[in-house]
Amino acid sequence: MLKGIATSSGIAIGKVYKLEQPEIVINETGKGVETELEIFDNAMNKTIADIEQIKERASATLAPEELAIFDAHLMMAQDPEYRDQIENMIKEGSSADKATKTVSDMMVGMFESMEDAYFKERAADIKDVSFRLLCNILGLTIPDLTAIDEEVIIVAEEMTPSDTAQLNKKYALGFVTEIGGKTSHAAIMAVALGLPAVVGCTGIMSSCKHGDMLILDAKEGTVIVNPTEEELNDYRQRREAFLKEKEALQVLLNKPSITTDGHQVELVANIGSPKDMDNVIANGAEGVGLYRTEFLYMESTDDFPSEEDQFNAYKVVLERAEGKRVVVRTLDIGGDKKLPYFEFDPEMNPFLGYRAIRLCLDRKDIFKTQVRALLRASVYGKLAIMFPMIATIDEFKAAKDFVLETKEELKAEGVSVSDEIEIGMMVEIPASAVLADEFAKYADFFSIGTNDLIQYSMAADRMSEKVAYLYQPLNPSILRLVKMTIDGAHSQGRWCGMCGEMGGDPKAAPVLLGLGLDEFSMSASRILPTRKIITSLNKKEMEDLAGKALKCHTEAEVMELVNSVLKD
Ligand code: PEP
Ligand code: MG
Repeated sequence: MLKGIATSSGIAIGKVYKLEQPEIVINETGKGVETELEIFDNAMNKTIADIEQIKERASATLAPEELAIFDAHLMMAQDPEYRDQIENMIKEGSSADKATKTVSDMMVGMFESMEDAYFKERAADIKDVSFRLLCNILGLTIPDLTAIDEEVIIVAEEMTPSDTAQLNKKYALGFVTEIGGKTSHAAIMAVALGLPAVVGCTGIMSSCKHGDMLILDAKEGTVIVNPTEEELNDYRQRREAFLKEKEALQVLLNKPSITTDGHQVELVANIGSPKDMDNVIANGAEGVGLYRTEFLYMESTDDFPSEEDQFNAYKVVLERAEGKRVVVRTLDIGGDKKLPYFEFDPEMNPFLGYRAIRLCLDRKDIFKTQVRALLRASVYGKLAIMFPMIATIDEFKAAKDFVLETKEELKAEGVSVSDEIEIGMMVEIPASAVLADEFAKYADFFSIGTNDLIQYSMAADRMSEKVAYLYQPLNPSILRLVKMTIDGAHSQGRWCGMCGEMGGDPKAAPVLLGLGLDEFSMSASRILPTRKIITSLNKKEMEDLAGKALKCHTEAEVMELVNSVLKD
């Protein structure tokens, strides 16, 4: 049995699909000019056919602008100059693979050295196309997530957000990755999709092969490769019980989240795209507590999304929320979230660098497009705007002033804008948690981003499984920062939410309730289990529990307190 980090709930039992890129070994000598030319020609035809097929399959799920990437790849594969150069090298005696690699590397180098973002992007296209071409020349298979047509559990070194986005929920039973932490974006997306997943499972890649049988327990964070019949029966029963429990939660679907002594909190959802609203509605969320708009920027391949594209996305979300509050976070790019069309200067510590609101206040041109789109969409629902990574009151004031100025500008243009937009901030940098009572004089609300708040408080990279043990949401130091933030908000009559993963963590719910958190924002699939917990607790008792937790010395002590009130 292998142990990893549990990210979600559920049990998956199925065959392994190993997401592993083949290793390219170049042949120094060829099999003669004629044969090599033929190998090249066949491989090139197959490459073009492969790309066309992938595009065709992807067109069922991707938007037209997202499909443009495949056209760029096709154009590259059909470029006569590229082809001529490779064929000339083969005619001079090179093997087909060596010629392809040499010409492609040269072109990649040339495009990468250009200043223009458009040409840099072409370098990525050549890399992609030439990798496929080389695999076809060498007879190697490239795994293609969109081609999966049977139920499997994906096993990978790492899953990028775009890998996760390609997963077809009909066939992907769950996934296991070698690296990554509980708050890595792959893990967050797994929870959003409602898929069982275990991340940071060291050794999984070398312990299984394509087609092996696998059991994945996403609650315990355990993985069993090629289980015995007895283990299979045991886990089939556990899976049955889990599914029954999930079904039973449906009775709470559109019920309020009220404690046994009558205290009501809001349970809202985190989303990354307008498509996620289906899940928000299906799980009875009471609104959206975090719309991560950077995914809109990451999906675009060649330029920043236009004001019109953004306006349409925000309008859909606001309309589908039917008057419930939608908290939209402004662009949080940088750190691990990069854009193909925007170059970040290299930094030693990108997580501590030029990102999120820092970048937006510096590049008002980029910020302006988003703020205009948001304000224009505000008349279609109940919009709240939230800035990420606020460290100082000056930053918050500058961002808020910018929104208010843009609002006046739009009004002068005759565009209607709602007068009821709340403007708040994420508290995810310890400095802002410590000064929360002062921040509350300016911000309409707070939402605590515990993924980053814990990363910065513990000085432990959230992407690294080696320091994952320092992700301790229930450590008293973190609880004290959370308390400071909630009390700070309440001292000025503001509300305080939480949208980091801790907001949907069942073990944290009793303490957060006791500390007075008003709004819990989480992946939609966590709403009903959390509602079940909240409605079984007594607020007064949880206040006592939180008081004790704040005086504990270790996370383990807090966990013990929490376990005494949680039945499961
Ligand atoms: C957080 O930091 O807790 C958060 C919600 O933002 P993200 O995970 O997108 O950094
Ligand atoms: Mg964050």
